[in-house]
Amino acid sequence: MPALLPRPSILSIEPYVGGESKIPGVNRIVKLSSNEGAFGVPPGAQQAYAAMAAELHRYPDGGATALREAIGRRFGLDPARIVCGNGSDELIGALVMAYGGEGTELVMSAHGFIMYDIAGRYAGCRVIKVPERNLTADVDAMLAAVGPRTRLVFLANPNNPTGSMLPAAEVARLRAGLREDVLLVLDSAYAEYVTRPDYDPGTALVDAGGNTVMTRTFSKVFGLGGVRLGWAYAPAHVIDILNRVRGPFNVNAPAMAAGIAALAEPGWVEKSVAHNDAWRAKLSEGLRALGIAVHPSEGNFILADFGTAERAKAADAALKARGLIVRAMAAYSLPQALRITIGTAEECGMVQDALAGFMRGA
Ligand SMILES: *Cc1c(COP(=O)(O)O)cnc(C)c1O
Repeated sequence: MPALLPRPSILSIEPYVGGESKIPGVNRIVKLSSNEGAFGVPPGAQQAYAAMAAELHRYPDGGATALREAIGRRFGLDPARIVCGNGSDELIGALVMAYGGEGTELVMSAHGFIMYDIAGRYAGCRVIKVPERNLTADVDAMLAAVGPRTRLVFLANPNNPTGSMLPAAEVARLRAGLREDVLLVLDSAYAEYVTRPDYDPGTALVDAGGNTVMTRTFSKVFGLGGVRLGWAYAPAHVIDILNRVRGPFNVNAPAMAAGIAALAEPGWVEKSVAHNDAWRAKLSEGLRALGIAVHPSEGNFILADFGTAERAKAADAALKARGLIVRAMAAYSLPQALRITIGTAEECGMVQDALAGFMRGA
C-alpha cells in the first residue's frame, strides 16, 4: 500500500478507455469508434485554427466572448447564459463537483454515458444506475430512484451508446417530477443529428426556469473532437457557479477560432445530417438483413447486438482484420454489442462487407 492515498471513492473509478485508433500490422485504419463526424474537420475551421499559430503567445479570452456570441446567434440563445468548456466533459465534471460530493447521490440510466459515473465517483457521490426499458431511459424508474440525497440527474438525449431518445414530453415529465434542489443535466451531444419532430435538446426546459442544464459539444457533428470544445446553457445562477469553478482559460484560443468557423461553415450540418440519415438507415437495414439486431438510433452511430459477448468479440476481431475499428461495449454492461459510428459511404460499405463475411462464417 502506498503511504499516499486519494479519497476512497477515487479508487472505485475505472479509467475511461477511449475508442482505439491503431491495429498492429494494419496500414489503412478506419476509425469508427468515437462518433467523430463522417466528414472530418470543416475546411473553414482548419484555416481558422492554422491562422492562430502566430498568436499562440497570447492568453485566450477567458470569457470566450466571441465564441459564446457565435453560439448564441446560431442557436438563438442568450450568450450570457452560456459557458464554454474544454470539451463538454469538463463541464459535466464541474457540475458534479459543484453540486454533488460526499453524502449526495447522482442518478443516471443503466447504459447512460460513462462520464457521469466517472465524474460522480470523483466527486464522492453515490452513483445510482437505473434499469432501462428497451435500452431507453425509463422516466418512472429514474424518478423512483431519486431520494432525499439526490442532487444530480443525468440524461444523455439521444444516449450514447444506445442511440435511444426520449421525446420532449418525457423529458419534461422527468423535470416535473424532480425537486427544485435536484439539477437535471441534459447532455445533448448528438442534438444536431436528431430529425424527429418530438425532440427538444433541452433549451425549452432550461428556459422554462427549472434547475436544468443543457450541455453540447463541437466533437461530433462539428468535427472538432481533437480541440476539446463544448458548452453549457443554464440558468443564470448555475452559469455563475460554473464561472467560479472552471479554469480561467479553460478554452484555448485556436479551439475558439475553430469553433466559431465551424459554426459558420456553409451547409456543414445539413450535409452531415442528410448523410447520417441515409447511411444510418442503410447500414442498419443491411446488418438486420444479415441477422444482426440493430437498435434504433437517433445519433451518428448504431448499436449492433450479436447476442452473446463471444459473438461480439468475434465480430470485433473480424472487423479489425479488415482495418475497421468499432467500439466494444463491456464497460457499458453491453458485452454482446458493438457500437459502430456512421462513417463515409465507403466506410459503411466496408462494415457491411466485413460483417457479411463474418455472418457467413468466412
Ligand atoms: C461524445 C459525447 C460527449 C462529448 O464530450 P466532449 O468532451 O465534448 O468531447 C458528451 N456526451 C456524450 C453522451 C457523448 O457521446
